Amino acid sequence: MSSDNDNDQSTLAIESEAQLSVDTVNVDTIKGSQFWPASTLYVVATPIGNLSDITARAVQVLQAVDLIAAEDTRHSSGLMKHLAVETPMIACHDHNEVAACKSVLERLAAGQCVALISDAGTPLISDPGYKIVKSAREQGYRVAPIPGACAVISALSAAGLPTDRFAFEGFLPAKSQARQKRLEQLVESSCTLVFYEAPHRIVATLQAMAEAFGEQRKAVFARELTKRYETIVDGSLIDLANQVAADRNQQRGEMVILVSGAVSLEEDRSNEEQEADRVLRILLAELPAKQASMLAVQLTGLKKNYLYKRAIVLSSEAE
Ligand code: SAM
Repeated sequence: MSSDNDNDQSTLAIESEAQLSVDTVNVDTIKGSQFWPASTLYVVATPIGNLSDITARAVQVLQAVDLIAAEDTRHSSGLMKHLAVETPMIACHDHNEVAACKSVLERLAAGQCVALISDAGTPLISDPGYKIVKSAREQGYRVAPIPGACAVISALSAAGLPTDRFAFEGFLPAKSQARQKRLEQLVESSCTLVFYEAPHRIVATLQAMAEAFGEQRKAVFARELTKRYETIVDGSLIDLANQVAADRNQQRGEMVILVSGAVSLEEDRSNEEQEADRVLRILLAELPAKQASMLAVQLTGLKKNYLYKRAIVLSSEAE
């Protein structure tokens, strides 16, 4: 693992001035050249670290809307300044979502367009905004996504675990008993599991996962994605838990844990069974069923009764 300095990495990384230069776009040009329907709520993704990850369309929309509903206006004002966005902002977070929702709906009712942003990444993905999007849709307003950075998708794209099926589990419960219960419910899930986790809980969570899913289950720890100290490590859950516990730098910043899906018991059993059948067939060519199954016990480690029954079946098939 790479080692970090002691700086808090949790805020947006500003790597260089160059990456911040975004052309100011004439708002009338945007409205003239793009499909720009009235009364639209835009759900706009912002960077999860590297500020260059904002899309050109996101900048245009942020400049052109009448209002930006931001999770934390103070946090987002830095980004808006760098993007030369001067659109007025209102706060929209978990504690004022009802009032913020009312303000947004009033703007939409007046024919205005509003952008919804969170502190980082895609709004609603472990971030506020659900109530506003739901209400806007229920009231028949157009809701348009402006896609971009998202930690779960970024982590999956680079982890090297199967992505054909995955489950995003977000943050596990903070209390250890509830966390253990949730993990136990996921033990048999065969798709890749993706979790967000906070730095102060990362060691306990990796250890709890090793306990629940088995120490040898394959996993990936993806930290500080798109930032200077980006780290993506794979290994067994117990190895990752030990590595992170031993290195305080790996307990800093923002992190995603990906756990490979359970190999189904059925798949496991049939692999073992297939191997046992192969061994038995070779032995049965030379030996009676009883002796063949006795030798197969030593070669496969499977139960004597099971192997004897299989030996009988395979001998009768061969006759
Ligand atoms: N809406 C965001 C998204 O689209 O990913 C997620 C917001 S959630 C409040 C914050 C959590 O996302 C962090 O605790 C971490 O688990 C994950 N996260 C965000 N940025 C990250 C990054 N750059 N690297 C790794 N994980 C990140």
